[in-house]
Amino acid sequence: MTNLINKIDTWIFDLDNTLYQADSGIFQQVHELMGKFIEKHLKIDINKAKEIQKKYYKLHGTTLRGMMDNHGVDPDYFLEEVHKLDYSIVGPNKLLNEQLSKLNGRKIIYTNANMQHVLSVLKQINLSNFFDEIFDIKMANYIPKPEIKPYEQIINKFNINPSSSAMFDDIAKNLVPAKKVGFTSVWIDAGYENFSDDIKSSTSYLDFKTSKLDSFLKDVNKGVI
Ligand SMILES: [Mg+2]
Repeated sequence: MTNLINKIDTWIFDLDNTLYQADSGIFQQVHELMGKFIEKHLKIDINKAKEIQKKYYKLHGTTLRGMMDNHGVDPDYFLEEVHKLDYSIVGPNKLLNEQLSKLNGRKIIYTNANMQHVLSVLKQINLSNFFDEIFDIKMANYIPKPEIKPYEQIINKFNINPSSSAMFDDIAKNLVPAKKVGFTSVWIDAGYENFSDDIKSSTSYLDFKTSKLDSFLKDVNKGVI
């Protein structure tokens, strides 16, 4: 098998829990704010709100999509409210940034979050202006991963050749459509149980697995993967 460094010219990265550690606490903050948003918007108690949050995340891919489809929530307003975060708790990973900059070709961010969140995180991890393209949930018409449509959209929009592209994500089921459209798939096993993920049925779609993106990319750059 050809080394990734020779095969891949387009590197597609998820953002949250992929380009920074899952234990940073950022996602916990988002989850809290989503629960509170639902509580306030639907005028129900917080425990019920958290149940709905989980249910929609599982059924619709994102809580946002469930809130849009079932309650007509304005997506931009929702995303603005749930991303009022303390970003200071996330910091740069020097090794990761070094290895990212050694990769030849285009680097793209593909996230279910919104642009404001992406830019805030990138600033914190010292990767502002590093990526060639950012594809956020608004550009995907609020259709989240793992629905296949936005993957096809990315290919067209950025003129991507799937056979020379690799996608990295911490949610295994997001890599199923990635593999189906022809990307090489790399699962970042972030070491936490994501209740919406379905690792078992996704396994055969995962070309590579790693618990550390930085050392994985170091091996890619050395030509050993
Ligand atoms: Mg993620």
